[in-house]
Amino acid sequence: MPYDNFETNAIRTRAEQSGFREHSTPIFMTSSFTFEDAEQARALFADEIQGNIYTRFSNPNNTEFIDKLCLMDGAEDGMATASGMSAIFTSIAGLLKTGDHILASRSVFGSTHQLLTMVFPKWGITSTYADIKKPEEWEALIQPNTRLIILETPSNPGLDLIDLEYIGKLAKKHNIILNVDNCFATPYLQQPIKYGADLVTYSATKFIDGQGRTIAGAIVGRKDLIKEIRFFARHSGPSLSPMNAWLLSKSLETLAVRMERHCKSALELANLLETHPSVSWVKYPHHPAHPQFELAKKQMPNGGGGVVCFEVKGGIDAGRAFLNNLKMISHSANLGDSRTIATHPASTTHSKLTDAERAAVDITAGLIRISVGLEHIDDIKADIFQALEAASK
Ligand SMILES: *Cc1c(COP(=O)(O)O)cnc(C)c1O
Repeated sequence: MPYDNFETNAIRTRAEQSGFREHSTPIFMTSSFTFEDAEQARALFADEIQGNIYTRFSNPNNTEFIDKLCLMDGAEDGMATASGMSAIFTSIAGLLKTGDHILASRSVFGSTHQLLTMVFPKWGITSTYADIKKPEEWEALIQPNTRLIILETPSNPGLDLIDLEYIGKLAKKHNIILNVDNCFATPYLQQPIKYGADLVTYSATKFIDGQGRTIAGAIVGRKDLIKEIRFFARHSGPSLSPMNAWLLSKSLETLAVRMERHCKSALELANLLETHPSVSWVKYPHHPAHPQFELAKKQMPNGGGGVVCFEVKGGIDAGRAFLNNLKMISHSANLGDSRTIATHPASTTHSKLTDAERAAVDITAGLIRISVGLEHIDDIKADIFQALEAASK
C-alpha cells in the first residue's frame, strides 16, 4: 500500500518476500521463469494474468524499481531501460510513425539532439527546435502532424527552466504528448506529471543511482502510452539488467536525503562563487540571480538541484587552467555522482555542436559545470577556490 510520504514509499515499496524471509530484496539473476502448469502459461501469454515470463519482458527487480519510481512521480505505469538514451529512444520510437513531427526544446541532451536530427529523420519523423527561454513562441511552431513535445528542465548545461504548467496546457490544448526529461531534477525536486506531462524520462545513471556505478534509464507516465512503449520494448529489447534494477531500487531509498545535501551544498557554492573576483557570473535555479528564480521556487519547491554553472573570467584558457588545477574534484563528463565533478561543456559534452548551435544554448567558452557531490562542502569550496586562484595567475 502506498504511504503518504515520498521517502516512505521509496523505502517500503518492495518485491514480495521469498520463503527465506529476507529483509532486503535479493537480486533475481534469472533469464526466465517457470510456469505452474499449462493453463497458467497460456494465461500469462494471453495477458489475462500478470506475472514474469522472461527478463526481457519483466523481472521482480525491474518491477520493484519501477513501482517505486511511479509512486515517487505520481505516474500510472512505467518501465526500466538499459540507459537514459534507450528510455528516450524507446519512448519516441514506440509511439511515433513516419510523417509525425516532434517539437523539441533546443536545449536537449547531446545524444537526444543526435537522435532527433540524424536518426529519426531516416524514418520520416521530423523535428523542430524551440527556444526554452521563449515558451510563448512554441504554439506557433506546432504543426498539424506534431505528436510529441520533448524538453528538459532545468536544461543542461544552461540550467534554464521552462514553465511546465504553461507547456502542459499547450500540449493538452493541441492533443500532443508531452515528454519531460527529468534527469536533472529527479522526482524529489520536480514531478512533471502534476503539471500535465504525459511521460517522464530519466537517465537513472545520474542522480537516481547517484554514485556513478551504472548506466540505466526509466520511462514513467500514462498507462495507455506505457502499454504501447512496452510492446515496442518487449520486441526490441532495451531491458535493464536485474542487477542494475536492484542497485537503483536501493538508490531510490536514499534519493531524498542525497538530493537535500546536493541542493544545500550547491546553493552554498553558488552564493560563494557569486562574489568571487575570478568569476563573471554564476547560475543556479534557487539562487536569486537566476532569471527564473520565482519559477524555480514554484516548480522545484524542495531545492534547485545539484548542478551549478559559472563562467571563469579569461575565456577558454582560464577555463582549462581551472580544470587542470583541480586536486580533489573529478574532471569528467558525467554528473549526479556522490563525487563532485567539473566539466567544460564547450570542449567535451557539447563539442559536436557548431559554434552557432552552442551560442544558441548559451554555452560560452569559459562555462564550467559543477555537479556538486556529497563530500563536505568545506573541501569542495577549498578545491574550487584554489583552482580559481591558480587559473587567474
Ligand atoms: C545523461 C543524460 C541522458 C542520457 O542518459 P544515459 O544514461 O547516459 O544514456 C539523457 N538526458 C540527460 C538530461 C542526461 O543528462
